[in-house]
This record gives sequence, structure tokens and C-alpha cells, in this order.
Amino acid sequence: MNTSTQTLPAGYIQSGQIDLKKDKRLAILLNIGAFIVFIPMFYLLSGFTAWVRPDITNFSVTITIVKVFSAIGLVVLVLIIHEIIHGLFFWIFSRGMPVFALRPLYAYAGAPTWFFPKRQYAITALGPLVIIGAVGLLLLLLAPISWIPMIAFLVALNTGGAIGDVFVFFRLLKCSPTSFANDTGEVVTFFERS
Ligand SMILES: [Zn+2]
Repeated sequence: MNTSTQTLPAGYIQSGQIDLKKDKRLAILLNIGAFIVFIPMFYLLSGFTAWVRPDITNFSVTITIVKVFSAIGLVVLVLIIHEIIHGLFFWIFSRGMPVFALRPLYAYAGAPTWFFPKRQYAITALGPLVIIGAVGLLLLLLAPISWIPMIAFLVALNTGGAIGDVFVFFRLLKCSPTSFANDTGEVVTFFERS
């Protein structure tokens, strides 16, 4: 099985690239997509929780300044955890230190000097969506009722926000089983045997 490497094996050439800085149209489409996923996901998660926890009779939420600020803090926290999970998989597969960036409305993790085989990169790309989703579902089942709307909001946001990861995953599926991916955090490049 292929393993991660800092030097591509001979005979590999670039077969595709996703660069949201260059491809503004794709960047806008993904942002719209994230929003379109977020809304139904929030209602789906709330509905799911009400269905599995019939003890919940209403989700009445009073919005206070404190809650708004905690929500902003939690959104940033989930964003950081999301990128740390990407980074953790980069590290697990390469033992190289990943790079991170956190700016307003924009965060990434990358491993600019590494090439990851298809399967490893697929796991790295979808890791945050799957892990935060699974932990979120567990919390929806177990957390105090007053936390439910906030948890559903955060999980829905992470799911919508992972649309770029899902896009990368589907692009990766088109690559051959022996392909490699390089991810600077901002640009993903695919390499296949020529
Ligand atoms: Zn991600």
C-alpha cells in the first residue's frame, strides 16, 4: 500500500487542482452550498433530537447578549477543532508537523511538503465532518435539553462548512487508486501516474 511521501515516485504528473483563490466561482458556489446545507441540517438535527428524546416538549430559546457571545466563541472553537482534526490526520499519516491558519471566516490546516496516497487523503478530508458529526449526535442524545439548539446549530454549521471537504473528496474519488494529493491548506493538487 502507498504511504505518504515528501518525494513523489517517478512517473507521476499533476492531474488536477482545486484552488479557491484562483477559482472564485467555485468559492462562491461552495459558500452558497454551505448555507443551503446548513439550514435543513439544523432542522433535521433538531427534529431528530425531538424524535429520539420525546421528553423534550419545546425548544424555546431566549436570546441574550451572553448567549450570542458564547455562540460566537463556540463557532470559533468548532472551527479550530475542525482544523485540528485535519491536522491530526496529516500528522498521523506523515508524522510531519501540519500548518494552520485562522482568520475571520477562514481557517485551514495543510501539509505543504507532503504527498498523501488517495486513501489517507480521503480520511484526512472527511475526518472533521465524520468525527464532529458523530460526537454531535451523541451530545444531542445525552446533553441537557437547554443545550440542544446550540449543539444542533454548531453541528449543522460544521456540516455546511465541510462542503469544501466533501467537494475535494468527490474530486479525489475520480483519481486512480495509486494517486497522491498535496494540500497546502489553500490549494489541493492531485497527482497520478502518467
Ligand atoms: Zn475541513
